[in-house]
Amino acid sequence: MQPYPDVKLFINGEWRDALAGETIAVSDPATEEVIGKIAHARPADLDLALAAADKGFKVWRDTSAFERYKIMRKAAEILRSRAEAVAVMMTREQGKPLAQSKMEIMGAADTIDWFAEEARRTYGQIIPARFGGVSNMAVKFPVGPVAAFTPWNFPINQIVRKLSAAVATGCSIIVKAPEETPASPAELIRAFADAGVPAGVVNLVYGIPAEISEYLIPHPVIRKISFTGSTPIGKHLAALAGKHMKRATMELGGHAPAIIFDDADLDKAIEVTAAAKFRNAGQVCVAPTRFLVQEGIADRFMDGFVKAAEALKVGNGMDDGVTMGPLANERRIPAMEDMIHDAVSKGAELKTGGKRIGNKGYFFEPTVLANVPTSAKIMNEEPFGPIAIVNRFAHHDDAITEANRLPFGLASYAFTGSVKTAHALGRQVEAGMLTINHNGLAIPEVPFGGVKDSGYGTEGGSEAVESYLETRFVSQMN
Ligand code: NAD
Repeated sequence: MQPYPDVKLFINGEWRDALAGETIAVSDPATEEVIGKIAHARPADLDLALAAADKGFKVWRDTSAFERYKIMRKAAEILRSRAEAVAVMMTREQGKPLAQSKMEIMGAADTIDWFAEEARRTYGQIIPARFGGVSNMAVKFPVGPVAAFTPWNFPINQIVRKLSAAVATGCSIIVKAPEETPASPAELIRAFADAGVPAGVVNLVYGIPAEISEYLIPHPVIRKISFTGSTPIGKHLAALAGKHMKRATMELGGHAPAIIFDDADLDKAIEVTAAAKFRNAGQVCVAPTRFLVQEGIADRFMDGFVKAAEALKVGNGMDDGVTMGPLANERRIPAMEDMIHDAVSKGAELKTGGKRIGNKGYFFEPTVLANVPTSAKIMNEEPFGPIAIVNRFAHHDDAITEANRLPFGLASYAFTGSVKTAHALGRQVEAGMLTINHNGLAIPEVPFGGVKDSGYGTEGGSEAVESYLETRFVSQMN
C-alpha cells in the first residue's frame, strides 16, 4: 500500500513546516493506528498566510476571468488524474469505502469545472439612466480574501465548493482544513498549485480550530468566511463574523425528514433512502434521519429497510466489498450509544443494530429504531451516524407538522405517486433542499444550503458564486 504522507502547510505557494515545528498526529479510524502527522499552525504561521492571501488577492482580482477559468479547468484535470492515489489517502484517514472516496474526488473535479465556467459569467448590469449622457453601471468585484473552515466527513468536497467559488470569482482563500482528515484536502490544494494558481491565492493551514477561527475572522485582511459544521459552532462563528462585519456562509447541521406516503414506489423509496442514510456511515449533514412512513405501507417499508441495513458489509474501507466503513473518530461511538440507549429507555424499539462492532476500529452496526418518542434525544439532535428513526403517520398534515417541528431545515426527502402531493410538499416543508422520488441533492449547479438553524447562504448554483462577489455602483456622465 502507498505510504500515508506527512502533511505540510501551504502558504504563499510553498509547502512548509510550522514555524515552531509543532505537529498533530493523524490516525486511521479502521485500525486506530497513527499513520502520519500534520504541521500545526500558530498565529505566527497565520500571519504569513494572511500576508500571502492579501498579496495573492491583489494579483488574482486583476487576472482575467478567462485565465482563472483555464487554470481551474487544469486543476480539475490534475485532480482526476490523481484520483486513485488520493482516494487511498482519504479512505485511510476518514474510513469511507474506497469507491466512495473515488466518487467524492471525481465529483470534486466536476465542481471545479462548473465554478470555472461560472467565472466567465459574473455579469454586472447597465441600469437605464434618468438623464442623457449618463451610464449607470452595477459592477461585480470579488469580495476579498476568504477564510474557510471545513469538517472531516467529506474531506475534499466540503472544501472544493468554497475554494472553487473563491478562486473563480477572483478572491484569495485561506482554508483551515480538517486536522483528522488532512492529506486528501492537501492534494486538492496541490492540484490548484500545480495548475498554476499564483502564490498566495490559495493557502492551507491546520491547527486548533477555535484558535485559528478566532484569529482569522476578526483580522482586517479577511473579508468573508464560510463554515461547514455543527449549528452551535456555526452560531458562534457567525456572531464573530457579525461583530467584525464579515460576510458569512453557514452550512450547518440538519435532521432530515424522509416522508414516505402510501402511494409511493416502495422499492425505490427503500433503495434510495437506505443508500442516502448509510453512505459515509451516516456522517452526512443531508442524510435522512427521521423516516415518517404512512400507516398503509409502514410494515412493508420497515421490513425492506431493515433488510437493506442488514445487507451492508461493514469493515475497513480499503477492503473489497465493504459498503460501510468505521465512524471517522472515536467520539462518535459513545455519541451513538448514548442516543440509542436514551431512545430505547424512552420506549423506542430497536429493530436492528445498536452496538459497536469489535473493539479495534470505530465500527458501528447500521441501526434502525422504530416508534421513537419526540422526547428522545435522537429526535431532536443530529445523530450524524448510521442510525435511522422510522416512525408512522396517519395524515399528510401530521407528517408536515413533524417534518417542520425542529429548528433545523437543511435537506428533506419525500416519496409519493401523487403529483398534487409532490407540489404541496414544495411549499410546505421548511427545508433548504427537498428531493422527491429520487436523490437529487448536492450537484454543483443546484443550490446547497439550509434555512432556520441549518444556516444561511448556498454553496451550489449561481447564488454560491454571487456570495463571493460584491456589487459596486458607478454612475458616469460623458
Ligand atoms: P464539532 O462541533 O467539535 O466540530 C465540527 C466541525 O467544526 C469540525 O470540523 C471542527 O474542526 C470545526 N470546529 C469546531 N470548533 C470550531 C471553531 N471554534 N472554529 C472553527 N471550526 C471549528 O463536532 P465534531 O465532533 O467534529 O462533529 C460532531 C457534530 O458536528 C456532528 O454531530 C454534526 O452535527 C456536526 N458536523 C456537521 C458536518 C456537516 O457536514 N454539516 C460535518 C461534521 C460535523
